Amino acid sequence: MTKKRLFIVSNRLPVNVEVVNDKTEIHPSSGGLVSAISSFLDDEKEKKLNKYSDTYWVGVPGCTAPVWSAAGQDLNDDNYKFLPVFISKKVYDAYYNGLSNSMLWPLFHYFPSYAEFNSDAYTSYKKANEEFLEVLLKHLGPGDVVWIHDYHLLPLAGMIRNELPEITIGFFLHIPFPSHEIFKIMPKEWQEHILEGMLGADLIGFHTIDYAAHFLKTVQMVFGLQNEKNIIEYKNRLVKAEVFPISIDYDKFHDAWDDPAVREKRHALKKQFNERKIIFSVDRLDYTKGVYNRLKAYEYFLSNYPEYHGKVVFIMNVVPSRDSISKYAERKKIIDEYVGNLLSTVGTVTWQPIIYQYANLDFDELVAMYTSCDLALITPIRDGMNLVAKEFVASRRDERGVLVLSEMAGAARELTYALVINPIDTEEIALKIKEGLEMTGAEQAMRMKAMQKAVQRYSVNTWAADFFKKLEGIRKKQKEFEVRFLDNDSRIELLGSFNNAKSRLLLLDYDGTLKPFVSHPALAKPDDNLLEILRALAEDKRNHIYIISGRDSTTLGSWIGHLPINIVAEHGAKFRDAGQDWQNEPSINTEWLPVVEEIMMNHARQCERSFVEKKEFSIAWHYRNAETAPGKLVADELYNELQQYTSSLKIKVVKGNKIIEVRNKGINKGVAVNRILKTGKYDFTLACGDDTTDEDMFRQLADIKSAYTIKIGPEASYAKYNLYTPQMVTSLLNTLKDIVEHSGKPAQLKATGD
Ligand code: UDP
Repeated sequence: MTKKRLFIVSNRLPVNVEVVNDKTEIHPSSGGLVSAISSFLDDEKEKKLNKYSDTYWVGVPGCTAPVWSAAGQDLNDDNYKFLPVFISKKVYDAYYNGLSNSMLWPLFHYFPSYAEFNSDAYTSYKKANEEFLEVLLKHLGPGDVVWIHDYHLLPLAGMIRNELPEITIGFFLHIPFPSHEIFKIMPKEWQEHILEGMLGADLIGFHTIDYAAHFLKTVQMVFGLQNEKNIIEYKNRLVKAEVFPISIDYDKFHDAWDDPAVREKRHALKKQFNERKIIFSVDRLDYTKGVYNRLKAYEYFLSNYPEYHGKVVFIMNVVPSRDSISKYAERKKIIDEYVGNLLSTVGTVTWQPIIYQYANLDFDELVAMYTSCDLALITPIRDGMNLVAKEFVASRRDERGVLVLSEMAGAARELTYALVINPIDTEEIALKIKEGLEMTGAEQAMRMKAMQKAVQRYSVNTWAADFFKKLEGIRKKQKEFEVRFLDNDSRIELLGSFNNAKSRLLLLDYDGTLKPFVSHPALAKPDDNLLEILRALAEDKRNHIYIISGRDSTTLGSWIGHLPINIVAEHGAKFRDAGQDWQNEPSINTEWLPVVEEIMMNHARQCERSFVEKKEFSIAWHYRNAETAPGKLVADELYNELQQYTSSLKIKVVKGNKIIEVRNKGINKGVAVNRILKTGKYDFTLACGDDTTDEDMFRQLADIKSAYTIKIGPEASYAKYNLYTPQMVTSLLNTLKDIVEHSGKPAQLKATGD
């Protein structure tokens, strides 16, 4: 097997190159992503499982091309080959500071009032992504795998997909994906461009289930695309959204307890603060981290619980970050002032209630702090994950220490044994600080052990391994989904199976499958030729025919009820076995119908030549005769309104081919087919359908070897084959009729060329 190459793509390369005193200095940088991917690759190598011949890392190097070239061979890394992307300073500044960190970052973290919507910055954002694309296109070849990271590169997957439709692409978002209400604040064109870009990937990863759900909902609201078990069908391709909570190198932090440098620093800290309880926090300077509210809460704690005066110290470390952006510089000023004020009003000559450092900590200092504090106070207003919380937990080999954690951090989903707080609730935070400082050793140990288990269970290499496994999974599913025309060979095979079968099941959708679409549903009456084919097929006792349609029972009954065939109406809400009475699917509720009818009628009035089709258990709005642009516009509006109205009801809004339909949940053609399959043993099944609703039927039959599923139309589908038109279906059924009428002599089998 030839090995693939892996391309990791992130804004920055994991190396810094600078010229100091005329000498080139190379510093590897090791953020959370680098350690996650490196530890995964090392693990694979150790287990001799490495699927990749080479791993490239594509990103901005932070230096000019000549400096990079001068560094030359020294840049080699054990794990990666670096591919630098050089972007002019002006474009980089607008892309990185102007758009990524002044629009996407605040908006995605629910700070819409901080977001700046500057169209020049968006142009630079596109331009920078094009620079990444250019570098990638110079190197990518068939079979390669690309894994793109984070909000700086949201459009990139779509751009690569346009050039290389077959390539495997994963995308991971390291920050929250906001609710649609927030996402839609940005201009519509940007919304579509960003989503199109993300949907260029095969697999899209998020930290939490909420972020994935927000993304799926946003795709639904912006493009009207629904998902089936987190899989979206986009431009004839399946794209999956999944949850992969990023983690840390658990062992590295856990084992650091015994590290001599860490131990020495820990003892020094303990000695310095003697009997005083230590509260610790560390985060980058960022308005999302909730530093101001944390200070307010600490001040409130000190004023409400004066017994702690002199007995506690809060060591607050803020790591410099993005200080060229005004919102960040402002933050620094606010914090400086607050701390100064607190020290002067609450502090005494012998007691400094807060120690504030604005600096980077090295690993030893950080772990020494994690392991010597009594309480870690982590209170972000929003945080995609928050690795600090996980690092603190992993470091506590002594099973002591309390974690006070904001419910707005992605990590709170896993660290449920923390004291979870609302980051703007000053009183609650103060109370939890007190509770934490007074917690018994036994309770601390119980909580810490449970949290350590949670972090250990999904450690850093599990994260990447899980992502690659799911990426392979969706690629496999895509293969099943591809368009495959029912060619001559497959047709002959189908006819042969039909001929040899003792009991055959024929599941036929009506509109768009047996009859082409017409301007009004009432005009799609079956002609004599079709009725004759169905009649002749039904006469053979080996054939069990079901017309399985979304139409109402009255129309279907009047058109084909005289034939000895079974009918499923309204997607399965009603069914009738040949010659029997109609039956209803139990547990159907129609209380919602009048309100939905009114909503649909209101929209139908705004869209000329559209109309509402009311059935017994469902209702549909058709716009096949309307002009394209107004039809789409009203369809989007109606769909949104129906989504909102039905969100808490047990009914489903389905967008089909020029139709929006509302029906009961749990009623679909897949469920109907499942019921039919239980009625007998069939050694041949043929299912034909043209619309989204038929996909449920195809999925239900996907694992049945003797089933031939055919999608009518040129789109990709869960069906095994495609036929382009209803006429081709009639022709196929006609050939089956011939087989039946010639009592299945194999000599009669030939493919008629459609
Ligand atoms: N960290 C750091 N320098 C420091 C203090 C902390 O690099 O001086 C690291 C810390 O160990 C953690 C990361 O920065 O791995 C912060 O990750 P987190 O997810 O908590 O927040 P982010 O900064 O990514 O928003």
